[in-house]
Amino acid sequence: MDADIIVIGAGLAGLQCARRAERHGHSVIVLEAGDAVGGRVQTDRIDGFLCDKGFQLLNPAYPSVRKWIDTSSLELQKFGFGVVVRDGEATSTLAHPVLHPAYALETLRSKQTQPRDLLAMARWLGPSLLRPSRVYGSARDTTLSTSFDAAGLAGRLRSDVLDTFLAGVLADSSGEVSADYARLLMRFFVLSAPGLPRAGMQALPQQMADSLSAPVRFGVAGRDLQETSDGVRVTTDSGTLSASSVVVAVGSENVADLTPLTVPVTRGLTTWWFRAPELPRRGPFLMLDASRPGGGPAGPIWHTAVVSEAAPSYAPTGHHLIEATTLLDQPDGLATEGDIRRDLERLYSTSTKDWDVLAHHVVQHALPLQPPPLRDRHPLWTGPRVLVTGDHRGTGSIDGALLAGDRAGEAVSERLAS
Ligand SMILES: Cc1cc2nc3c(=O)[nH]c(=O)nc-3n(C[C@H](O)[C@H](O)[C@H](O)COP(=O)(O)OP(=O)(O)OC[C@H]3O[C@@H](n4cnc5c(N)ncnc54)[C@H](O)[C@@H]3O)c2cc1C
Repeated sequence: MDADIIVIGAGLAGLQCARRAERHGHSVIVLEAGDAVGGRVQTDRIDGFLCDKGFQLLNPAYPSVRKWIDTSSLELQKFGFGVVVRDGEATSTLAHPVLHPAYALETLRSKQTQPRDLLAMARWLGPSLLRPSRVYGSARDTTLSTSFDAAGLAGRLRSDVLDTFLAGVLADSSGEVSADYARLLMRFFVLSAPGLPRAGMQALPQQMADSLSAPVRFGVAGRDLQETSDGVRVTTDSGTLSASSVVVAVGSENVADLTPLTVPVTRGLTTWWFRAPELPRRGPFLMLDASRPGGGPAGPIWHTAVVSEAAPSYAPTGHHLIEATTLLDQPDGLATEGDIRRDLERLYSTSTKDWDVLAHHVVQHALPLQPPPLRDRHPLWTGPRVLVTGDHRGTGSIDGALLAGDRAGEAVSERLAS
């Protein structure tokens, strides 16, 4: 045997699984088809800018992050506690009045913070703030839209802010996702503003990989698994490896390559990264577009931000980094650069003539679809010695992937000990 356990895939789930199994005293080999750790959490360094491969944020309030990640060494640069809403020609900043007192009056006077809407929001979110554990497995889970209707959330807070913000977070604009899942995610945004590590999002998986006893083996794709009487043989392009157990942590789109499972339904996102010589807008906030009659974005961009305003390390001094996110469940999800520039010019009321595209990341399988009822899915044994994990076996988030990986590490260690 080459090791007690072979973990296939060095995304967050695979890395956390390997860390947990090592802590139980097992020898672990991690195989990664790509040339870096992190899977969907990676960072391109382009001309001194940090462009994550799909804009995303790390929330330090995630329970798994609090337990297993050294966030202080990541030096998180936090986004503001609020959002900017673009409504036609008008732009308003809605922000936590105590944390951002400069915006308190604007926030309280805005069309999106009518007392009726705020009360409905409290009805919608309150239970998950007070008793989050009761949310999982609740028989009452419905779609997001139905839950908003039930809470009486019908005003502009919903149409201009929540629908658009959550569509961007969940990569789904249908309103058909699990309301309980949306509540759990919103709870984390209430508990803490999310941020970006000084060295880019990839610093998160890198920290995890650095704590393993053996280095991850890059450029080694698992091609086939064969269970034997005492273990599993993994065929790779460069030979065969064997272990007592194998954990498949390859992400939704590759799960069917190595197991009898079908590919889980997923949703996609794209991120455009631009550099600008002049600052188009001050402030560490995400901008949501509510310019379509009835709410929602009038163009392909669901949210945009001057990322370097929140995370100065993402751009060289004197330069500015802008992200713009589109949703692949929309017909204009793959809009052209010209369409994106026109939309950015409308949103920031400025020309983008001097802006350069640094990268355009298209992530077809960004997140597993999370329909109601929310199920806290567990790692799945597809054979006596083969276990499947990843965010599609938990919830579609950094927290979901870490939790799923940790459970897999526990489960595989327990079986080896029995
Ligand atoms: C654009 C985008 C935005 C997001 N925004 C957020 C956010 O703001 N907050 C949040 O909490 N979450 C966010 N997420 C979700 C989060 O990043 C994922 O849920 C999480 O990273 C999934 O980790 P994973 O380990 O399950 O899978 P993956 O990261 O997909 O890892 C799978 C790994 O397996 C490797 N692999 C595949 N096949 C093989 C093979 N045959 N052999 C060897 N290796 C193989 C892959 O190369 C990859 O490295 C976002 C995701 C994307 C893409």
